Amino acid sequence: MTAAPSADQIARVRAHLPALLAWYRGRRRDLPWRAAPPDPWAVLLSEIMLQQTTAPVVAARFPDMLARFPTPQAMAEAGEDAVLAAWSGLGYYRRARALFACARAILERHGGRVPDDPQALAALPGVGPYTAAAVAAIAFGRPVVPVDGNVARVLVRLFALGGEPARPSPRLRELAARVARAEDAGDLAQAWIELGALVCRPRRPLCGDCPLEQVCLARARGLEDRLPAPAPRPERRLVHASAFLALADGDLVLLRRRPRGGLLGGLVDLPGVPLAPDAGPEPPPLAVDWRPVPGEVRHVFTHLEMRLRLERAVVDGPETARPAPELPAAGLFWWPIAELAALPLASLTRRLLAHGGIVPPPSGRQASAR
Ligand code: SF4
Repeated sequence: MTAAPSADQIARVRAHLPALLAWYRGRRRDLPWRAAPPDPWAVLLSEIMLQQTTAPVVAARFPDMLARFPTPQAMAEAGEDAVLAAWSGLGYYRRARALFACARAILERHGGRVPDDPQALAALPGVGPYTAAAVAAIAFGRPVVPVDGNVARVLVRLFALGGEPARPSPRLRELAARVARAEDAGDLAQAWIELGALVCRPRRPLCGDCPLEQVCLARARGLEDRLPAPAPRPERRLVHASAFLALADGDLVLLRRRPRGGLLGGLVDLPGVPLAPDAGPEPPPLAVDWRPVPGEVRHVFTHLEMRLRLERAVVDGPETARPAPELPAAGLFWWPIAELAALPLASLTRRLLAHGGIVPPPSGRQASAR
């Protein structure tokens, strides 16, 4: 365990906060959720979208999400399926369900207004210590520094914490609290985040461009490329399976709503995609003439890699395939290809459909068959 940072080193870093602030204000990225004055709901929405998704991807999707759900009340009233459909393609769908639960909790517990207290924020579904601190600082000017993986890495290097993994921990959050200050808290919170994202990068940090270079212990000791120590890679299980793409009458496709609670719970996929890592192979959903599509689709989850072969079939007749009147709670259903955009499709489903010649649009547009 590395020695705790000295009060002197903390004071040196705090004395350089004006330089960090000036650097941020001069170079900040123009991102759609950075409105002035900040809208607390927009800040919260963006922070939940940014969990495990890069800023450029969120920047492309955020304006539509905010337009679709401009307030917590609008989201709570739209329902979870609407949120899942709007989230389609962003991955980590647990966040979309938590976001919906969060909107409902804001409506029920706080009369539809995002609370300004970090503890009340952290009590909302889907809001951990980082998101609570980010919203409290950015939207309400509370003197806190949000610690995500990027900010954790900056702190580990600034204070040369050799034994500390670069992930948010109570120790790093406590250290962040000691360097926080009340003045310009919102911009400073974003400055720390931006510094970690743009300058103090995981590999080859741009120390020559860093406003904190003069007070960085890792830089002074030549350790900037060696800290933090790399985290061990998670072991991934490899799963092979076949997915089934059935088409009918040229404009219907057979889909499946996955059961809630498990892998990709509540989302729409193709029959045959394993429901759990240890589930055995599934039989074809229809007794028809299945033809293999050449190649395979590989999809990586945190602890799991799926390699899927695709079997395709075309079936005839309205007696076999009728479109479902609405998205069912679970199980198989036929759906018009042109209306795929209305469904909460997993990214994996999109890739399988594309492999089978169907390109679902992101939202609100017509699907096309290649
Ligand atoms: S000087 Fe280099 S290692 Fe230190 S905080 Fe800045 S970018 Fe990171």
